[in-house]
Amino acid sequence: MKRDIREIAESGRWSVEILSQLLSLRGEAQKALLLLGGEYLQNYRGREVYYRGLVEFSNLCTKDCFYCGIRKGNRHTERYDLPDEAIIAAARFALEHRYGSLVLQSGERDDPAFVDRMDRLLQIIKKETDGKLGITLSLGEQSPETYRRWFNSGAHRYLLRIETSDETLYRQLHPDNDKHRFQKRMECLRSIQRVGYQTGTGVMIGLPGQTLNHLAEDLLFIKTFDVDMVGMGPYIEHEETPLYDRRSELWSLQERFLTSLNMVACLRLMMPDINIAATTAMQAIDPVGREKAIQAGANVIMPNITPSNHRKDYLLYQNKPCTDEGADDCSHCLSIRLEMIGHHPGYDQWGDSPHYFKRMQR
Ligand code: SAH
Ligand code: SF4
Repeated sequence: MKRDIREIAESGRWSVEILSQLLSLRGEAQKALLLLGGEYLQNYRGREVYYRGLVEFSNLCTKDCFYCGIRKGNRHTERYDLPDEAIIAAARFALEHRYGSLVLQSGERDDPAFVDRMDRLLQIIKKETDGKLGITLSLGEQSPETYRRWFNSGAHRYLLRIETSDETLYRQLHPDNDKHRFQKRMECLRSIQRVGYQTGTGVMIGLPGQTLNHLAEDLLFIKTFDVDMVGMGPYIEHEETPLYDRRSELWSLQERFLTSLNMVACLRLMMPDINIAATTAMQAIDPVGREKAIQAGANVIMPNITPSNHRKDYLLYQNKPCTDEGADDCSHCLSIRLEMIGHHPGYDQWGDSPHYFKRMQR
């Protein structure tokens, strides 16, 4: 089986049919796929896993995505917005713990006060950390000017998941208004790439109404869009969201998890030189989910370094792990966990995706 999959991978002829078959593999055949994903990672990128300290600095959000626990319409979430000093302290923490990079993530806002604040914060973090810390932003849809401004102030990677590359499915997951258009999301992704960011996208896996063909199309979309980094993980329902009403249609959590592993392995075979995150949602289902993702080809972990008194309020989905731990516990347990599976942390490195540099030369 491994030989057959290897032949498919080496031929580079990816299609919806082939990919949906690979995504459906279970048992021994699945093992072969995951092993090959791990082998490609080792051959193309080595055994280093890069850390990005994740700061979920605010759950204020102007949008109402049907799947997300911090959507504007959820009145049962205590809203918070960390003060600048706390965000800067988290950046210092990342540097001191040799994480190499920082991810700043929050609910979506595009008002001038927010845009200015981020701009200022980026400059301060760059200065305070002597330009040593790589900075990734995950702040949703913004204007091309805003993306450019933040890039010029020191952010060099941007994550904006397409969530699903199927416009019909996208419409079922979002309200029907101008704030939630598929085409807008697509334009934003293009604009991020054009500004010069290392560009990251991704999808949720196991959404109601989603099929293996949709996921196969997602993989082809990611490859065609030529992104540099990908974060994808299982969709996990949240009681206080409209999508919860469709929970009877969902695959079991285990199925969502196993399909996510196959997604990681397939993508590693399709795009060997990109960065792929072992996402927190995978760990929410399986206590060693992130380690399994790394063994299947992922090479980035985003340890949560949000000051812990607010972790419980950034609940995108239920059973989110590490919501009651301090950042220290997380950094310690992570390196031990990595070493147990024969990988090691890429301390003090930005861990950029070589794909980006090749893309820029073209
Ligand atoms: N507001 C920004 C960043 C925060 S949300 C944005 O939307 O881009 C970050 C990601 O969390 C989303 O892209 C989505 O893929 C994921 N997410 C939200 N709700 C989720 C859920 N219920 N299960 C799994 N992932 C979810
Ligand atoms: Fe807001 Fe992002 Fe959640 Fe959508 S996914 S509601 S934009 S935080």
